[in-house]
Amino acid sequence: GIVVDAVTKRFGDALVVDAVSLGIVEGEFFSLLGPSGCGKTTTLRMIAGFERPDSGRVLLRGEDVTGVGAAKRNLNMVFQDYGLFPHMTVAENVGFGLRVKRVARTEARERVAETLAAMRLGGLEGRRPAQLSGGQRQRVALARALVNRPAALLLDEPLGALDFKLRKEMQLELKRLNHETGTTFVYVTHDQEEALTMSDRIAVMSNGVVEQLAAPRELYERPATAFVAGFIGVSN
Ligand code: ATP
Repeated sequence: GIVVDAVTKRFGDALVVDAVSLGIVEGEFFSLLGPSGCGKTTTLRMIAGFERPDSGRVLLRGEDVTGVGAAKRNLNMVFQDYGLFPHMTVAENVGFGLRVKRVARTEARERVAETLAAMRLGGLEGRRPAQLSGGQRQRVALARALVNRPAALLLDEPLGALDFKLRKEMQLELKRLNHETGTTFVYVTHDQEEALTMSDRIAVMSNGVVEQLAAPRELYERPATAFVAGFIGVSN
């Protein structure tokens, strides 16, 4: 699992994340939910290692990784804009991380094929990102993040750019991947309905603090603060 222990981050005078603590269980679908600007992305980036906390610690499977760079954490992040390499084919995009890690060529080829199949991208190996639909691009980004079997997958509003129907479809796809691979998912969203339908547990954030950390049903039935009640209860 992942332990976030009293992590704090300032940008200039702004206290963006204020002593946030989270315990994320191995294999669970965990969401950080809150309105724009509440500090969810910054929290996720500190878990990923792209941002260093001013104080507090991050532990990965029991190991303190607070000072360890993103490349050395066994985690992968999927961004809203997917971050695919436009000049590379689907297969090259997905295989990129394996090449960096010097996985043997035959094994890499097998793992790419297996991951593409799991993401239902068979037959699209030779295409470039510009020749794919939004949903296909999203699946390539996921395939690339899963191919080296990370301890956790960090997702920052990954479905934000998709239309309603595709969004629903990808929500199911993500749940399926979470179950089938047993990979821990940490999911950032401002959409309470999305968080409630997908997550095992949710940390509701506002103004840099965790208002409540609970299972969807408990948040709904027993909101701990007026903020949680309002944010969970109304559509935004
Ligand atoms: P959103 O859903 O809009 O991305 P968020 O909850 O993910 O919001 P963050 O991206 O963590 O929020 O940002 C929290 C606050 O920190 C915002 O006010 C943002 O402007 C500020 N912030 C984020 N990154 C930086 C940075 N590198 N330098 C200065 N301020 C930053």
